[in-house]
Amino acid sequence: MPERHSAAIASPDNAYARAGALLTIDLGAVRENYRRLRKILGAVDCGGVVKADAYGLGAAKVAKALQAEGCTNFFVAHINEGLKLRAELGADPAIYVLNGLPPGSEGEASAAGLFPVLNSTEQLAAWRANARKLGRRLAGVLQVDSGMSRMGLAPSEVEQIANDPDAFEGVDIVLVMSHLACADEPEHPANELQRQSFEQLRAKLPAAPASFANSSGVFLGKPFHFDIARPGVALYGVNPTPGKPNPMQPVVRLDAKVVQTREVGDGVGIGYGHAARARLNMRLATVSLGYADGWHRNASGAAWFKGARLPFAGRVSMDSIILDISALEPDALVAGDLVEFIGPNQSVDDVAGYAGTIGYEILTDLGDRFERIYKDECPALRG
Ligand SMILES: *Cc1c(COP(=O)(O)O)cnc(C)c1O
Repeated sequence: MPERHSAAIASPDNAYARAGALLTIDLGAVRENYRRLRKILGAVDCGGVVKADAYGLGAAKVAKALQAEGCTNFFVAHINEGLKLRAELGADPAIYVLNGLPPGSEGEASAAGLFPVLNSTEQLAAWRANARKLGRRLAGVLQVDSGMSRMGLAPSEVEQIANDPDAFEGVDIVLVMSHLACADEPEHPANELQRQSFEQLRAKLPAAPASFANSSGVFLGKPFHFDIARPGVALYGVNPTPGKPNPMQPVVRLDAKVVQTREVGDGVGIGYGHAARARLNMRLATVSLGYADGWHRNASGAAWFKGARLPFAGRVSMDSIILDISALEPDALVAGDLVEFIGPNQSVDDVAGYAGTIGYEILTDLGDRFERIYKDECPALRG
């Protein structure tokens, strides 16, 4: 994308001209990341986690891109996400609801052919009751808590249902799953302990394929892969191996438009609270991006223009950020130009570093005021 005069980029309805910032989502890169993970997984099935609107990137478009790569197992967190995705993807793919079903929503889930993750004996009982009411067998997933203490049946509950001949009446367990607490720390002893616990717990349950690894789990090696992997963040280009080079391809690019530039005198206050003061001959550019767009207020960092690093000057506002552009030639940057906030010079993980958080949160916080550009959207799947 030309950095200069973005307003001139052709868009049929002039949307790029009106936009304060452009969010570019590279679906070709999502597909490439899926292929990279699948290569590591070999014969193990690679699912796709598209909860939270595919980490803010657009669940329908991302899921269709993954579908084009052969992905047939999709994971969401909430039933409402599952219902929406079912309408987008049609009847074929398996859609799993990780958080299980809120009481009273079982009928809608079975009508849409969603697979609930049964996290408690109560959720299992409600799914059994739903099967009884419908007079047919229903598929469900059992989650066991192998040591994260977040979701799933505790070992004592696994014991309890294993000894209850009626526990699975009318319910076909199609997957047994658990989730790793420390997968992004390969040396953490909890990983192997959880793996062993998972093996022991699933041996007590009806025989079914198993699912254990999230993105970082895929990089822990074969013993952690089981039958279906559940990567999310790696598909979206965030580094699943923190501290090592990122094996994934970047997916997101965020460019904000310059509203105006100015020269300020020595010692003049800049932005809210006058948190910064001008130096002699300082030049500033104000861009249309702020904390309402998901750029954290505490993420004081820098933006990039033609290879030059432009540090923030003063506080992040709701709708704008002021940049120190003194390093650029006068008039090198003008109103309407696009400045890179996430892109080749600055990764999602870099931005997370500025904000003192993780790439996951940077992605899921991305706002809905951006003009979104989807690259390499598969034409046959558009819509
Ligand atoms: C979010 C989530 C995933 C995906 O995790 P990533 O770290 O993004 O790969 C997998 N499984 C469960 C249960 C999750 O909640």
